[in-house]
Amino acid sequence: MPDYDVITIGAGHNALISSAYLAQAGHKVAVFERRDMVGGAVSTKELVPGYRFDLGGSAHILIRLTPIVEELGLARFGLEYIDIDPLFFAPYPDGDAVFIYRSEEQTAQALETKFPGEGEAYRRFLNYWRPFANAVKELFLTSPSPLNLGRKLVFGQAFRKDWQRALPMILKPYGEVVDHYFKEEKVKAPLVWMAAQSGPPPSEPLSAPFLLWHPLYHQGGMARPRGGSGQLTQALAKHITAHSGKVFTSAPVERILVEANRATGVVVAGQTYTAKAVLAGSHAVETFTKLLAPEERPPGAVNMRVGNGFGAIIRLALSDKIRYAAHPGDEARRALQLICRDRAQINAAYGDYLRGEPSRDPAIVAMSFSAVDDTLAPPGGEVLWLWAQYFPYELAGAKSWDDIAPTVEASILEAFEAYAPGTKEKIVGSLFQHPLWLERELGLYRGNVMHLEMSLDQMFALRPFLGAAEYKTHLKGLYLTGASTHPGGGIMGASGRNAARVVLKALGKRA
Ligand SMILES: Cc1cc2nc3c(=O)[nH]c(=O)nc-3n(C[C@H](O)[C@H](O)[C@H](O)COP(=O)(O)OP(=O)(O)OC[C@H]3O[C@@H](n4cnc5c(N)ncnc54)[C@H](O)[C@@H]3O)c2cc1C
Repeated sequence: MPDYDVITIGAGHNALISSAYLAQAGHKVAVFERRDMVGGAVSTKELVPGYRFDLGGSAHILIRLTPIVEELGLARFGLEYIDIDPLFFAPYPDGDAVFIYRSEEQTAQALETKFPGEGEAYRRFLNYWRPFANAVKELFLTSPSPLNLGRKLVFGQAFRKDWQRALPMILKPYGEVVDHYFKEEKVKAPLVWMAAQSGPPPSEPLSAPFLLWHPLYHQGGMARPRGGSGQLTQALAKHITAHSGKVFTSAPVERILVEANRATGVVVAGQTYTAKAVLAGSHAVETFTKLLAPEERPPGAVNMRVGNGFGAIIRLALSDKIRYAAHPGDEARRALQLICRDRAQINAAYGDYLRGEPSRDPAIVAMSFSAVDDTLAPPGGEVLWLWAQYFPYELAGAKSWDDIAPTVEASILEAFEAYAPGTKEKIVGSLFQHPLWLERELGLYRGNVMHLEMSLDQMFALRPFLGAAEYKTHLKGLYLTGASTHPGGGIMGASGRNAARVVLKALGKRA
């Protein structure tokens, strides 16, 4: 008899979600995590006394579009979501500011008042693309087979029989699609900057869906687990142990055991553990090139594109709240703050990146979630996170991140200071997570927070590569989940839920 029904490699949120579904269905599950805590890129730690820093993702958007939290009953394990409204705040150097609220109508009215015609354009944009956005959401929640792709997109309601108009738009770069709807750059820039968060630059052909799913932000909203992003993964770990599962930390998997073309278990610190199924939530590069011997690897595994990093983030503990010159009110602090003058700024940053240089004038996403959650900072204090793009992992010349990190950190801070003067004086502690840091500490190869590049050649049935896309692999008993699989990176958990369905079927129980 194997030791477990399922062994899961890694305790990222996707792997934990799969494991929780499997444990809830009655399977004997063991999760082995290399780090000393669960969560991977969804974890939170008190790094400065009294200040709780997220170490990875912070804005919970996509997971709000899934039934995962309810299906697993995570509220019973301590997860409490705080809804964020306004969703987005975009300040401008001339003192102007744009808000995008949870309510579509409130947003449209605010835009119409500020820029006549743009509110109406916003309504038109949302109404036209809502069916497409919903079809994409449904695709996220299913295995990415060509059949499902056809069913949801081609034969579903996605295009409302308006293929001729919709298709050319979908094939465009997202940085151009906004021109079709809006005239005002101050409306276009935040939409494009938000789309850029998936990785591909605004000029990339076929990238329009990153913008066209915008209606989903209003639908699912944005939320924060009280106590920090990591409360999601803490609740998942508690759920698994409450369902008789085991979660081991500081337990790096060294090797996947393979016998007669079947994965039969793992080796952890020299000790062998066997299972009916092995589910790898680790990065696909780790799974295929580190945990399997060369002769056990499938041919496609060498073609995965990890890219050259794309962002860096400063975590700050502040003695006082931030104040934007363009809008000193607290609504600005609650929202995701999209600091981007115009699309030219993003394009120039991408140009620097292509030359192997850190962006000299980066656009920033600022987050100060202590505005909605007083457990993150001491009374009166603030946590502030500044995510900036684009920053290559591999730098031109002989430069190393260990040498340039202080200069780059200072330049991001300086850029933010122009919008919220006085912030630098409030700093009492900080952490700078550059691409090399993300690789060393979180195992995110080459600093890619999405594991693999999110370009069309690595999405849907092509993620991580053709032949390993439906959470199954060339080996019997070896399954995949995580950002390396469909639908990719971000805090969503859809991969975890989809993979659980596949493993449950293989083990002979229905979800
Ligand atoms: C700085 C940063 C900011 C981000 N911001 C956002 C955001 O605001 N919103 C959003 O939606 N997304 C954001 N993301 C992206 C998102 O957090 C990630 O894409 C997602 O969390 C990846 O989850 P995962 O479950 O696929 O894998 P991971 O979180 O990468 O987890 C993989 C786990 O496997 C473990 N592991 C690997 N190899 C082994 C082994 N051999 N043995 C045992 N364990 C192993 C790792 O230690 C890790 O814990 C951000 C990411 C980062 C890093």
